[in-house]
Amino acid sequence: MFALAGGVVARLRPLGQMALGVLYPPACLHCGADVARHGLLCSACFARLHGVVAPFCKACAVPQVSAGMLGADGLCPACERHHSAWGQARAAFVYESVARELILKLKYADQTDNAAFLAQQMVRVGRDILVDDALVVPVPVHRWRLFRRRYNQAALLAHAVAKLAGLRCLPDALVRVRSTVPLASFSRQARWDEVAQAIMLRSSCGPRVRGRDIVVVDDLLTTGATAAACTNALLQGGARSVSLLVAGVVPPRRDVDMDQPDYGHVG
Ligand SMILES: [Zn+2]
Ligand SMILES: [Zn+2]
Repeated sequence: MFALAGGVVARLRPLGQMALGVLYPPACLHCGADVARHGLLCSACFARLHGVVAPFCKACAVPQVSAGMLGADGLCPACERHHSAWGQARAAFVYESVARELILKLKYADQTDNAAFLAQQMVRVGRDILVDDALVVPVPVHRWRLFRRRYNQAALLAHAVAKLAGLRCLPDALVRVRSTVPLASFSRQARWDEVAQAIMLRSSCGPRVRGRDIVVVDDLLTTGATAAACTNALLQGGARSVSLLVAGVVPPRRDVDMDQPDYGHVG
């Protein structure tokens, strides 16, 4: 009986996809050109993605011009000077050009289809941190922001990554207890302190996090302030390790000294 029903559903599904294809012909996620299937980029847009490939820093995921830039432990000079709170980080793309547009439209323009494409690429680069039994946890947004945007783009990515990798996602493990605003005039340290106090581990999730390897998922890795706050909250809650997996990484501006206050978005 169930097998029969399942068979009918299996036969109907391609029909549904066909009907969808007639109503909405598959279009490139970026430019709208014709593509073979839904959820793809056309070859011209795909060629404009700057994927992160080796050599890249294990801690900040930023691609390096040569392997000689990395120390014995695989860290770039900046990460050797200031060790990150998390263990490893992987990014699918450098945040520029088409990747930047895909991420911005996922975040601000309701293009949630972009999450599936970005998640596929994140799983591709994150294979070695998406270890067996790891828990996938999104970076939280404050509920006011959730109210305005209706969804958390990091949670969409985390769900898609977990599904593709066959892992559990714990969407509510971290909570943003207060809304942080870009504090342009504050020093780097003040902004880090502000974010650090804004993110907490939900007490009911403590037992599920304890002793586990966690992969924190976000759309972007910029200053690392948010990622560090998430990592510290998880480690204080007893997580065994924390890694980061993001869609886009923003390379540090070479004209800005990492130790000096910079002025921009807290990310
Ligand atoms: Zn295109
Ligand atoms: Zn680095």
